[in-house]
Amino acid sequence: GPVNIIMIGMAGSGKTTLMQRINAHLHERKQSPYVVNLDPAVSKLPFQANIDIRDTVDYKQVMSEYNLGPNGGILTSLNLFTTKLDQVMQIIEKRAASTKYFLYDTPGQIEIFTWSASGAIISNTLAATYPTVVVYVVDTPRTASPATFMSNMMYACSILYKTQLPFLLAFNKTDVVSHEFAVNWMSDFEAFQQALSRQEECFMNSLMQSMSLVLDEFYSHLRVCGVSAMTGQGMDHFFEQIQDAVREYHEEFKPNLQKQI
Ligand code: GDP
Ligand code: MG
Repeated sequence: GPVNIIMIGMAGSGKTTLMQRINAHLHERKQSPYVVNLDPAVSKLPFQANIDIRDTVDYKQVMSEYNLGPNGGILTSLNLFTTKLDQVMQIIEKRAASTKYFLYDTPGQIEIFTWSASGAIISNTLAATYPTVVVYVVDTPRTASPATFMSNMMYACSILYKTQLPFLLAFNKTDVVSHEFAVNWMSDFEAFQQALSRQEECFMNSLMQSMSLVLDEFYSHLRVCGVSAMTGQGMDHFFEQIQDAVREYHEEFKPNLQKQI
């Protein structure tokens, strides 16, 4: 059956480039995905989107019409698009027999999708119908300091708890920096503490030590992979992890969903 993959991540982490890479990877394997762009503010897409929010709303016009700044314009555009979500779902249903992967790119600014009603409506609607995986894209070179790493992981953790969906942490840009340090920090609490104590002030240090205990629990259930959207390294493992997330959807998410209904 079909699988929805939603790209989430900080601005510049590489969501759009990773979409392009996944798209190319699947095309090569004659498994052309269905591609949805939910970023109204992207100026140029490196891939051909089957559904593009920009065809429905002009975010610059929304900004001037409602007298909004850029973030308000993007959020309002997403809200307007969400009012037509039923039409999108109809298209997806028609395509579901012939298409395995449905890919969703989200706005550059992470909070617009993750902390808005529209973002929640979109991901819940998708997940109610088909296996849906959130891919949290991390800019690996920019998260190499212990403090940044920790705040990025706290953010990822909060999104996991908010969406409750099967989750894959994709360390991107491994062509620049390997994600090995991250895997090491996540699996070896003391290694992370050591890295921290080399870098941070006393106060931060003790705060972060307490936080890292919280994260330890998060890490123990976490699915991780390293990818380079630029070179394509890590794509096979990426898809293995997606398959594992789909298994989790069927075993854990779907039964709970039925209980809630
Ligand atoms: P988004 O805001 O999350 O959609 O990020 P983009 O996909 O627009 O990428 C932001 C920047 O990171 C661009 O300059 C990309 O070329 C660059 N980038 C994305 N993925 C990679 C990667 O795997 N390796 C390298 N070296 N750069 C990347
Ligand atoms: Mg983007």
